[in-house]
Amino acid sequence: MTVQSLWAATAQPAPALQSLYGERQCDVVIIGAGYTGLSAAYHIAQSGREPVIVEANTLAWGASGRNGGVVSPKFRVGFPTLMSRFGRDTALHLYHAGHAAVNSLVEMVQTLRITDANLHMGGHIAAAHNVHALAGLEATANWIKRETGGASSVMVSAGQVREMTGTAIFSGGLLTSGAGGIHPLNYARGIARHLVGRGVKLFTESPAQRVSHQNGRIVVHTPTGAVSARHVIYATNGYSDQTRLTQTLHQRLIPFRSAIIATEPLPPQVLDRLMPGGQVCGDTKRMLRWFRVVGNRLIFGGRGAFGKHDSQSAFDDLRRSMAVVFPVLEDVPIAYSWSGLVAMTLDYLPHAGQLDERSYYAIGYNGGGVAMSTWMGKQLAAMTAGEKVQLGLLAGDGFNPIPLHAFRAPGVRLAAGWQQFLDVIGR
Ligand SMILES: Cc1cc2nc3c(=O)[nH]c(=O)nc-3n(C[C@H](O)[C@H](O)[C@H](O)COP(=O)(O)OP(=O)(O)OC[C@H]3O[C@@H](n4cnc5c(N)ncnc54)[C@H](O)[C@@H]3O)c2cc1C
Repeated sequence: MTVQSLWAATAQPAPALQSLYGERQCDVVIIGAGYTGLSAAYHIAQSGREPVIVEANTLAWGASGRNGGVVSPKFRVGFPTLMSRFGRDTALHLYHAGHAAVNSLVEMVQTLRITDANLHMGGHIAAAHNVHALAGLEATANWIKRETGGASSVMVSAGQVREMTGTAIFSGGLLTSGAGGIHPLNYARGIARHLVGRGVKLFTESPAQRVSHQNGRIVVHTPTGAVSARHVIYATNGYSDQTRLTQTLHQRLIPFRSAIIATEPLPPQVLDRLMPGGQVCGDTKRMLRWFRVVGNRLIFGGRGAFGKHDSQSAFDDLRRSMAVVFPVLEDVPIAYSWSGLVAMTLDYLPHAGQLDERSYYAIGYNGGGVAMSTWMGKQLAAMTAGEKVQLGLLAGDGFNPIPLHAFRAPGVRLAAGWQQFLDVIGR
């Protein structure tokens, strides 16, 4: 089974990077070179402080180099639900945080002129897989209109969704305008290129293994070096199991494998009918399926294999799922298949906080962190500067290790099976 991503096959070269050898000093040492770590480094450098990044693998090796590139302000939990559980102010705060996240990504791309990220803000369609889900989308659209006075998301009919996507299987949808698609690996490499160009040290193949405290500073140790800093940022998200150092973060998460396939180039007569308006689309199933057109291919994502490794059967499932949504693609060959771990949390929200006086983190994007992790990096930069940051429900209060975390693997299978069953019976 060949597992290679479309992004890796089409990305601009990464900047030349090396491992950490010897000892270094800086203001903030960042563990993990995905969007969270890269964005934190950018904003720390902008404030005149010196960041250093250590990455266990290669640049953007984690979710940031493998995701679907869907840029969206939404969370997994709908705003009406958030309001009924936590009140109006909290729901509104999250609504604005989601949009601020998208803005911070757009600003990053524009400021650093990352043109090869191919950012296209054509909008996002949440497509209802049944009438029950359609009612949920209507509630969200009404909430946004009533509570924000804006029309950032509007309902579209089943016919409009068919015209916008090229498939007739959906009951209608919610079109969000401040959303779109990006080449995720070029985005990460673009930020890294800028950082390296301004002299920021970014070390790859340098896993942070332990920390120690010396003379009022925190020291992060890798196999061949150490970085001493005033603060440390953990930006390890769904890959927090790489070393024991981040075990306490790993235990707050339920990593879940998400897979993507990309077709071979499609003939114009097929391509012209798929997503002609350039939107990106995700459905309302609990086991979300999503798709977008990239160049002359369709890319289609959904649940991957359970466990630590890819499996051909999970990619085959995804292919069958794509053929249900787009029967015209049934016999189209798949050129690329790949997967990665999304970091789920029990409340379906990301969180940023402090582990101790010198240690900060932001993790748990629940498969929706392309924009949010960029924004969280900015918040982490401010937090390490001693600024008060209003994170509301996204703060780390109450975000604790999950009891019996070691038994999560069978738990994930059970939960996924239950969610799939609910999808099948239409609830
Ligand atoms: C298949 C897939 C599809 C997705 N699609 C979308 C999408 O379309 N839209 C969207 O908004 N979100 C999507 N996501 C989620 C999104 O990609 C993530 O939320 C985001 O990339 C998180 O960035 P991050 O920097 O926090 O983590 P990551 O990019 O995962 O980076 C964490 C890094 O930490 C490093 N690391 C771990 N431990 C150590 C250590 N001890 N020392 C040094 N380094 C360490 C890892 O090697 C890794 O590179 C998707 C995720 C996946 C897996």
